[in-house]
Amino acid sequence: MADAAASIYRIQGATGAWEVVIGLEVHAQVTSRAKLFSGASTEFGAEPNSQVSLVDAAMPGMLPVLNGECVRQAVRTGMALEARINRFSRFDRKNYFYADLPQGYQISQLYHPIVGEGEVTIEYGDGETKSVGIERIHLEQDAGKMLHDQHPSFSYVDLNRSGVALMEIVSKPDMRSPEEAGAYVRKLRSILRYVGSCDGNMEQGSMRADVNVSVRRPGEPFGTRCEIKNVNSVRFVQAAIEYEANRQVDLIEGGGTVVQETRLFDPDKCETRSLRSKEEAHDYRYFPDPDLLPLELDDAFLEDCRASLPELPDAKRRRYEERLGLSHYNASVLTAEVETARWFEDLLSHVGEQHAQRAANWLMSDLFGALNRLGKSIVESPVSPRQGAELIGLVTDGTLSGTLSKQVFEIMLETGEDPAAIVEARGLKQTSDTGEIERVIASVMEANQDKVAEYRAGKDKLFGFFVGQTMKAMGGKANPGVVNELLKKAL
Ligand code: ADP
Ligand code: MG
Repeated sequence: MADAAASIYRIQGATGAWEVVIGLEVHAQVTSRAKLFSGASTEFGAEPNSQVSLVDAAMPGMLPVLNGECVRQAVRTGMALEARINRFSRFDRKNYFYADLPQGYQISQLYHPIVGEGEVTIEYGDGETKSVGIERIHLEQDAGKMLHDQHPSFSYVDLNRSGVALMEIVSKPDMRSPEEAGAYVRKLRSILRYVGSCDGNMEQGSMRADVNVSVRRPGEPFGTRCEIKNVNSVRFVQAAIEYEANRQVDLIEGGGTVVQETRLFDPDKCETRSLRSKEEAHDYRYFPDPDLLPLELDDAFLEDCRASLPELPDAKRRRYEERLGLSHYNASVLTAEVETARWFEDLLSHVGEQHAQRAANWLMSDLFGALNRLGKSIVESPVSPRQGAELIGLVTDGTLSGTLSKQVFEIMLETGEDPAAIVEARGLKQTSDTGEIERVIASVMEANQDKVAEYRAGKDKLFGFFVGQTMKAMGGKANPGVVNELLKKAL
């Protein structure tokens, strides 16, 4: 069993401890309106075969024309991963026969990828960090899609995806546990979404991972790996590694050897199955694509790419901690997703940076709580940042107590009205009118004489009871500070 509590993940086999080694090849669909070598649309969910140009269908004599936007996105991604950008890169043909690949080859970059070595910093567990190396990023075309469930005896082919640009982001074999691999995929996804080079939508297949797993005795050289193809969620990546690592340990301890092969993950059974072994692996006969010139990037293009990069999640998190004084945890949560950070910064522009802590608390507890209940994402929030700021302002200036502000927030969620208008129309203002509060306290004490006696005899805990009764009698509208003060006096 794995020792999940320790930062070192070990599988305890019958003959001793094993370590897991993981490297990921992530395919990320480039955010671009057109395909890598044609002008056909890349919109998701269109009628099958409605977005296929003559190039994508591989009609004889058609020539690919490189889409500059895809190149720009790959370079920006490389820069965000602190990677070396290769000024010279080239496209190669990867030859294989399959019904969803009308050209008979995929255009990819084997020998000269557009992006070289880089790194991703991941954080997991109790704030432990680790750097995962990036080996390379190359641009390539996606294939079409087979539809096997449309007809009892025929398979159909949908070429809408054929020719769509993918970035293949290859990590070094630097990860040592399912948790680290999960943190890596999440961090990569977050960075791509900040950069805007991939929407990171794993359910729609915009991002998927080939997961390479091997096991070894701690300190020994790497073992033989298996590659689990096309895993499409963080949870499945982790489950696939867990299963595969244990399978390999059992296999080796039972006297067998791991053979390098391609496997599939079955999410229903939570296990991996052999797809093809290395002997059956294709010989792709790679060679430079004669239809495409090598790609050379100049300074102006690279500068333009760099200038277009936004503040990235790690830098943003540090700024929230250092300049806004937020805790590491709060800053991490607020910067993990680009939409959350955007919403928070919009909120902050209304409430002012001096109230960053209050704004963060409200967003992370009240707003997140409500969105969770409603099953909505932050971009679907029924309350706008300006309205949220107005609500926070009403608490800051004493118009609303904490309790009242929660009531007002509920009404905002339901009606979409502005908080000030709700307070005005429903008379929800908090009162600090000492005369009124004193009268209520007197009647509460009158009705609970036994408890007053107990309190005075030393049962301090009853103070909370009197606060509660007074607030209740005033419909939650009394200023809690004033209630406390007056109660102390009266008791
Ligand atoms: P290939 O050239 O056969 O595709 P690569 O060296 O490019 O192999 O590696 C492909 C992926 O497999 C990379 O993500 C790499 O980190 C990972 N990998 C390589 N060796 C191992 C290993 N022994 N165990 C786990 N992952 C590995
Ligand atoms: Mg590879």
